[in-house]
Amino acid sequence: MYDIAIIGGGASGLAAACQTVGAVNKEGRPLSVIVIEKENRCGKKLLATGNGRCNLTNVDTDLSHYHGSVKEIAASVFEKTDDRVLQRFWQDLGIEYTQGDRGKLYPRSLQASSVLNALRRKMEKGGVIEKTGSRLTGLRRTKAGYYELSLLVEKKDPQEDKPGSGRTRGGKPSVKAVYEKEKLTAHTVLICMGGKASPQLGADGDGTRLARSLDMKVAPEYPAICRILIDSPYNKRLSGTKVTCPVTLWDQTDKAASAEGEVLFTDEGVSGPPILDLSRKTGQILRSRRKAFLTLDLCPEMNKGQLFAYFSQRFETLKDLSLEEALEGWLPKKMILPLLMTAGLDKSMVSGQMTGPLTGRLMDTVKAWTLTVSAIDSFKDAQVTVGGVTADQIGEDLMSPAWPGLFWCGEVLDLDGDCGGYNLRWATASGITAAQNAAAYLDTIGRPGKGAPRG
Ligand SMILES: Cc1cc2nc3c(=O)[nH]c(=O)nc-3n(C[C@H](O)[C@H](O)[C@H](O)COP(=O)(O)OP(=O)(O)OC[C@H]3O[C@@H](n4cnc5c(N)ncnc54)[C@H](O)[C@@H]3O)c2cc1C
Repeated sequence: MYDIAIIGGGASGLAAACQTVGAVNKEGRPLSVIVIEKENRCGKKLLATGNGRCNLTNVDTDLSHYHGSVKEIAASVFEKTDDRVLQRFWQDLGIEYTQGDRGKLYPRSLQASSVLNALRRKMEKGGVIEKTGSRLTGLRRTKAGYYELSLLVEKKDPQEDKPGSGRTRGGKPSVKAVYEKEKLTAHTVLICMGGKASPQLGADGDGTRLARSLDMKVAPEYPAICRILIDSPYNKRLSGTKVTCPVTLWDQTDKAASAEGEVLFTDEGVSGPPILDLSRKTGQILRSRRKAFLTLDLCPEMNKGQLFAYFSQRFETLKDLSLEEALEGWLPKKMILPLLMTAGLDKSMVSGQMTGPLTGRLMDTVKAWTLTVSAIDSFKDAQVTVGGVTADQIGEDLMSPAWPGLFWCGEVLDLDGDCGGYNLRWATASGITAAQNAAAYLDTIGRPGKGAPRG
């Protein structure tokens, strides 16, 4: 029987596990803790964060960067596990911050691997058991009040290495996964199973599936911090083009949000920091079955009047050139034709033929180039999940009142943060808080069992 079983060896699970190191029960015995991870190693997603650099948190910690019903509970979590506590948590592991653009804080090494290694080192030295290749498939609270966990555990195929077993392919053993059912018991369980974003890195919705099986409410899940797909014949032509500009998101004809930064055109739509920032709201609009549009101001340094004057002058100076030639050097080349077509202008028209109304049309298009949104990207290419277990299912201690001893943290909850370190901040802070509260809960249920041997 374990004191604490942590399901999921991602950001929140590993932070929780480290927090338990050194914790003892009422008799002074170290808590027995196990991390159960379905992948063959912990922290796969962590390694991919911040383009391999791991954007741990942000200097701007305003709560407005978070969304979802769990926001108020998050405020209370962040009050106790504030930024000084988080910084100390990382420093204790040997991780110092360094600041990047937009207030993003990274490990000074700029290597996500150093963060994962530090977390796993602490766990290992602290006697936390890592059980990888083990998927939680069910959970039951016994009459005695402890939890029985059902696992599907990947075993090494006993035939694999035997010569002549016929299981070799090109001299290499053929890999055939063999799964066995196992049961395990624990006084408290921390659900750190993540959401649905980037399932290839581990979390694929098992957390909210488990919640539903326990009759807990789950807010609808959809992807965010992802590309916005555009309905345009020019996607392929524009792919690879980058432009730094303000972007406005429109909900039908109403301004819904805006962001600024480098927009990257891709095969199917747009990406880049401002787009990732706007993707959540875009998803919301589309889910309400309304139309969404993006407008790009491709000349933010001039107002309309100034741009009109500038174009008039430019076309006069370059009057013998075609419009396409006259705009080269002022706009990325791949963008000129789509812009001219959108403005209803012929690319081979000579600049000298540009009249006031035609120049006005081009100016309007450049100041507000409208892209029609077709969709947001799928979970596969998203960084975070909107939705999850709702606030009314848990207390401020992150425990479910209906399931004493069962705690929830990280992305499985109905809380998502903006791009910029806010999601790892939440995963870490909620993991630490859940671990502290699980240890405190163990004290309230009398004498926990003898506990499994550590490490
Ligand atoms: C490519 C990418 C880059 C990102 N970059 C950043 C960034 O730089 N900064 C930032 O703040 N956020 C970033 N995020 C978001 C951030 O990584 C997540 O919000 C955060 O990892 C969530 O932590 P978590 O512990 O809740 O879930 P996860 O980290 O997803 O961990 C959940 C774990 O549970 C395991 N699991 C799931 N089901 C089971 C089961 N049935 N049994 C056993 N184990 C199970 C999974 O395999 C996984 O290891 C990024 C996300 C992605 C995809």
